[in-house]
Amino acid sequence: SKKLTIGMIPADGIGREVLPAAQRAIEALGSSIPKPTFVPLLAGFELFTRTGQALPEETVDSLKHECNAAMFGAVSSPSRKVTGYSSPIVALRKKLDLYANVRPVKSVDGTSGRKVDMVIVRENTECLYIKEETQTTTPAGKEARATRLITERASRRIGQMAFEIALNRPNRHLTIVHKSNVLSVTDGLFRETVRAVPKLPEVGGRYDAVTVDEQLVDSMVYRMFREPEVFDVAVAPNMYGDIISDAAAALVGSLGLVPSVNAGDSFVMGEPVHGSAPDIVGKSIANPIAAIRSAAMLLSHLGHHDAAKRIDDAVDSVLREGQVLTPDLGGKSTTEEVTEAVVKRI
Ligand code: NAD
Ligand code: MN
Repeated sequence: SKKLTIGMIPADGIGREVLPAAQRAIEALGSSIPKPTFVPLLAGFELFTRTGQALPEETVDSLKHECNAAMFGAVSSPSRKVTGYSSPIVALRKKLDLYANVRPVKSVDGTSGRKVDMVIVRENTECLYIKEETQTTTPAGKEARATRLITERASRRIGQMAFEIALNRPNRHLTIVHKSNVLSVTDGLFRETVRAVPKLPEVGGRYDAVTVDEQLVDSMVYRMFREPEVFDVAVAPNMYGDIISDAAAALVGSLGLVPSVNAGDSFVMGEPVHGSAPDIVGKSIANPIAAIRSAAMLLSHLGHHDAAKRIDDAVDSVLREGQVLTPDLGGKSTTEEVTEAVVKRI
């Protein structure tokens, strides 16, 4: 398609170290894609501590009106409540209606880890992430509550996205992850709504070839560790999707390998699955591959499949050769050296 204007939001921590790698991978494609324009945009906790704003209006405006895609690095959200602060990534997913977080987790021969080739499709707008929390004081002490929102609309569209992804994979299998044995109303609605997707009139038999099963979220984690090779596509409400994707990342050797896109009907934002990694920030050892692969996913989402494949193939060969790896994969190379090795192979 036509223009390629990509908002770049490094945000915090290693987000700032890995996002330039994603940009360099896209630039290395040369004329095989429309000439990209990169728009640097601000967000994050560090920005909040300096300016009182975690997600400036200008950033959202630029994404909505100037850009047709974005890359997000990572944000450092504090574990305790900070008055006035709210995570910009959670807000962006909602503001841009990026209702699906698609997370492919795939092992590469030659790297440590198990044989895994699955896609986790995480609902991205509701569940506990609506962050409606209250605290009261009772005679027995403090009491805190959170509201968990599951809607038919969001469950249906994430379900439809998951069926579509499953249909386009060789095994055509979908696992619905939930906990409706305990949460029969909320997770029950999610499960039933996703189950009903193939029978929707507008779907008209399109997903007949997709086989479906389901797994309670706790046994999902157990089975992912015991026999990860049995899973193909998994669809889950927001929080379970968040948790099982970090677990899946451990199976393939590192969080630094796992990419994602946040996708809606009219916008896409690439984002490595990992966070801001304060334990390694500033050491130039963050693995850039998750960010680079997120850029490839973004391009693929925009229809540039060959360009995406060139990036993925370059990453795969660097991993398979095993000479230039960051310490999370047992290597001694820096972020810059891994980026360089990938760019050279693109
Ligand atoms: P994390 O993903 O930042 O790090 C977990 C572990 O994985 C750490 O040991 C880290 O060093 C390692 N790791 C992560 N990415 C790596 C990479 N690219 N290369 C090498 N090693 C890597 O999770 P955390 O430590 O639980 O959270 C740190 C901060 O990040 C918190 O403030 C949290 O709120 C935030 N966070 C943000 C996002 C996001 O922006 N979407 C996601 C998860 C966590
Ligand atoms: Mn997470």
